Amino acid sequence: MNYICFDCGTKYPLDSNKWKCECGGLLNFEYQKKVIDFSDTLRSSIHSIWKYIDALPFEKEDVWQNITLGEGGTPLIKISENVYAKAEYYMPTLSFKDRGAVVLIAMAKKLGIKKVVADSSGNAGTAIAAYGARAGIQCDIFVPESTSDKKLKQIEAHGAVIHKIPGYREDTASAAISMVEKTNLFYASHIFNPIFLEGTKTYVYEVFEQLNGNMPDAFIIPVGNGTLLLGAYIAFQELMENKQITKMPKILAVQSEACAPILKAFVEGKNNVEPIKNNGTLAEGIAIAAPSRGTEILNAVRTTGGDIIGVSEESIIQARNDLALKGIYVEITSAANYSGYLSYVKKYPELIEKQVVFPLCGAGIKSN
Ligand SMILES: *Cc1c(COP(=O)(O)O)cnc(C)c1O
Ligand SMILES: [Zn+2]
Repeated sequence: MNYICFDCGTKYPLDSNKWKCECGGLLNFEYQKKVIDFSDTLRSSIHSIWKYIDALPFEKEDVWQNITLGEGGTPLIKISENVYAKAEYYMPTLSFKDRGAVVLIAMAKKLGIKKVVADSSGNAGTAIAAYGARAGIQCDIFVPESTSDKKLKQIEAHGAVIHKIPGYREDTASAAISMVEKTNLFYASHIFNPIFLEGTKTYVYEVFEQLNGNMPDAFIIPVGNGTLLLGAYIAFQELMENKQITKMPKILAVQSEACAPILKAFVEGKNNVEPIKNNGTLAEGIAIAAPSRGTEILNAVRTTGGDIIGVSEESIIQARNDLALKGIYVEITSAANYSGYLSYVKKYPELIEKQVVFPLCGAGIKSN
């Protein structure tokens, strides 16, 4: 089990607390995985991501048992013929980030770590703080000054130390990294630590199982830093490798028009994402002007034959109201996903005949 550099292939042991390669490259994570037996998991009495233990970096009897809060196993809601919404707001901290946070914090616990550093504009910080509290690990969480009060209260309630940082989201990241560099503490970053993606990949396993061993034609996925998108792509690769699917579903990614650096790189045919200026968007959860894993995200979308689109502020508000009138109350950021689906149907009319899944990433009470 080790970290491995995406650029140069250098390997680092987990207890090195590395979050980046000496060469500057980002780290991925490798370990011996077993093949999931989906006929087994279908009958499992475990109603959480941990039913997929064979594809997770832990043993059946392991630290995760004392850290899980029952995350995962979220419902797939039928929106219309062929279209499903996966209700990730059923999670213990009300967003899909719990999938990644529980795996990352369980690994920190296994490594004997007592204190971690993280930075987030909201939901990831909340999830890390909750699982940190559960695991008895102290969390120092860096957040942008502009973070909504509700999210701050949630983080604070879990006993984390909050550091409010003025300026852009990138300034918050720099402040966290500077603490990590000074102290060599474990950086529980949902962006840099690839163990987080081992948790988010379970999103796809669940859909696969809920659709009776079939993949939808496309996954609509919001993208800021790409933690759900890259997790999904890892799951696709694993299912392909194990010959459990013969073709990857398309990743149809969604950004907010007001902050869309990955969309820009995609349409320009580039392999790297250049930072842009965030023009301000209601979809704060995907407002990432300088996504660190941009190259990996572009590669994932292109490999699946997918696409990226931007959605407008008005369409996000409209989609949030529309969902609420269907009984589904989501965080504003999450409405971008439904808006994205509607835009994709306009762009590709044939999509109406295809099976599509989009996520309801966060609960409505999280935003105003
Ligand atoms: C984190 C988050 C996203 C986007 O995830 P990325 O990992 O930044 O791509 C979307 N919606 C909600 C509600 C989130 O919390
Ligand atoms: Zn390297």
